[in-house]
Amino acid sequence: MRILAVSDLVNEMLHSPALVERARGVELILSCGDLPADYLEYIVSLLNVPLFYVMGNHGGDGGEKIFPDGGENLDGRVIESQGLLIAGLEGSPRYNNRPRFQYTENEMRAKIAGLTPALMVNRARYGRYLDILITHAPPFGIHDGEDLPHRGFKSFVWFMDNYKPRYVIHGHKHVYDLREATITPRGATTIVNAYGFKILDIEKVKRKT
Ligand SMILES: [Zn+2]
Repeated sequence: MRILAVSDLVNEMLHSPALVERARGVELILSCGDLPADYLEYIVSLLNVPLFYVMGNHGGDGGEKIFPDGGENLDGRVIESQGLLIAGLEGSPRYNNRPRFQYTENEMRAKIAGLTPALMVNRARYGRYLDILITHAPPFGIHDGEDLPHRGFKSFVWFMDNYKPRYVIHGHKHVYDLREATITPRGATTIVNAYGFKILDIEKVKRKT
């Protein structure tokens, strides 16, 4: 199954009719935040496939529209779409006193606790907790930065160890050096920085009988 993941940076090619050719075969769009609502709406309107998103740490300060129409906000939710089990956790570490879309490590741990019952249901029903976790911030120590706003969440590392999603797809960490790693395997999980965009081919898991 082909997935278009986007984050943080408007790509002019995707923001044009060339999108249709570039994203041929895409069945699902995942946004990891810090993108204008109209950009996401444009992509959805051309590709006409489901969009799931989380918010980044930016947006809304100027009163602009931040939640795209035609998409589903996955923050704090677990869903099934086209055979894939997907959950979302928005925002970044808290770094100032405007805490919208910013969380302390404890607050993020509490958000993860909120997902747990649905993950347990998945485990019972499908034989696995989750296929994809979409976040804005990266996990601690993977694709993250040294400064507080760009430091990853330790609770995401805990999440990977416990729930073994096949993918964690995040944004937030801008990539200016092409040598910088953006796809990193760790245990059962592949961590993907979607900065700009990534097209991923993900194998569907057959339902466990
Ligand atoms: Zn960000």
